[in-house]
Amino acid sequence: VTCLKGQDIALFGLGGSGLSTARALAEGGAKVTVWDDAPARVEAARAEGLTATDLRQIDWSCVSALVLAPGVSLTHPVPHWSVQLAQEHGVEIIGDIELFCRERRHLASKARMIAITGTNGKSTTTALITHLLKALGLDAQMGGNIGVPILDLAPLSDERVYVVECSSYQIDLAPGLDATVGVHLNLSPDHLDRHGSMENYAAIKERLVASARIAVVGVDDEMSAAIAQRQDLASMPVWRISAQGPVEQGIWLQGSTLMRSEAGDAHAVADLAGIDTLRGAHNGQNAAAAFASLCALGLEPEAIAAALRSFGGLHHRMELVARAGKILFVNDSKATNADAAARALSSYERIYWIAGGKPKAGGIASLDAFFPKIAKAYLIGEAAEAFAATLEGKVATELCGTLDKAVIAAARDAGADASAEVAVLLSPACASFDQFPNFEKRGEAFAEAVKALPVVQEHQE
Ligand code: ADP
Repeated sequence: VTCLKGQDIALFGLGGSGLSTARALAEGGAKVTVWDDAPARVEAARAEGLTATDLRQIDWSCVSALVLAPGVSLTHPVPHWSVQLAQEHGVEIIGDIELFCRERRHLASKARMIAITGTNGKSTTTALITHLLKALGLDAQMGGNIGVPILDLAPLSDERVYVVECSSYQIDLAPGLDATVGVHLNLSPDHLDRHGSMENYAAIKERLVASARIAVVGVDDEMSAAIAQRQDLASMPVWRISAQGPVEQGIWLQGSTLMRSEAGDAHAVADLAGIDTLRGAHNGQNAAAAFASLCALGLEPEAIAAALRSFGGLHHRMELVARAGKILFVNDSKATNADAAARALSSYERIYWIAGGKPKAGGIASLDAFFPKIAKAYLIGEAAEAFAATLEGKVATELCGTLDKAVIAAARDAGADASAEVAVLLSPACASFDQFPNFEKRGEAFAEAVKALPVVQEHQE
């Protein structure tokens, strides 16, 4: 990154993207001073040859920007001390996505950027857009909040398309964000701890689309629909997205068909039936947004529709890890709350449900509409007893303790089910930390236990 060459930059937060940002700045000739509250991270940065000094001891009158890692608190509940110092000295506070955008302008690069935000579905939509672009022969670079930090992606060049997942934290730190296509999927109360109010949270998300050249906006919740109506968007092309019903101008889902509305006419553009990785209405919203984004770049609708069929999906999000005849084994370990589990429960007809873990506020009472589809629930972890109490009299339950035991019990019962298709579904509606280091490890443990089942091995042979 050469756009801050010669300038004094303070950088706080050396986990993951912080370190890569510091490297990119130093290589581009900025005078970077880094720090972190964790001494081990400071040491690691020093070992790489970076200048590490406690930012409470530097001369802030020379500093032109504070670069902040996205996890560091900007406002709520209180600003981090490094943020307070920058504010006291009138120093701007930015993040790595801002640096990317500045560099793009600095080099007058024609590289295109698709930025994706929303409360849910960001990673799926980002991965899907990347897949579609690659399938159509473009040089797509995926990063940001998903996978690789943005400054570690292949360097800017005019043919590249950067597909960037943006959390609201990252948008907050990117005042100069100027995507070619800005995608906003949906809004529901989340992360209010950091952003204060729902209005503030919505305003942050809105900025991503309002500052883009073309907007793609989901209209299935009230606040997102209001964003699509905003005055700032009146002068730009806006593609509306819905999984619930027709839109005026954009892409919407009718059954399993993606429809396109333009100039008063509606016609089918893609069929999602039979695409396992895009099951469920929520994925209809993601697919519609991805479809619109590629159309916005002028790509061929027929080619986009064909490429949808080869999407491999994301690990741990309704991931089909094995199929044994009529039994689907589905890893939805990413569903760490009831709301996320609802998407998976809505996507299958007869379910052997593995749930539990470290409980979240609210429990699973909100899922009662799905209880009739659940043949039985296999409960694990700290939440098991509370979940059993919620399900009592409505759904048969078995307290399994561990995930391994739950998989064996669920597979046994699913095998005896006479339905045409059944799902053994891990969608825990809980965090994993009581029994696993993270949701990825939980998902991997599920996949391993499934692959060890005799019934699954028989079908693989
Ligand atoms: P994010 O990156 O925004 O956290 P993901 O694509 O990783 O979203 O999906 C996380 C979970 O959210 C999925 O397992 C699914 O249950 C749910 N989900 C995915 N897409 C949507 C959507 N468009 N609307 C609501 N929920 C969704």
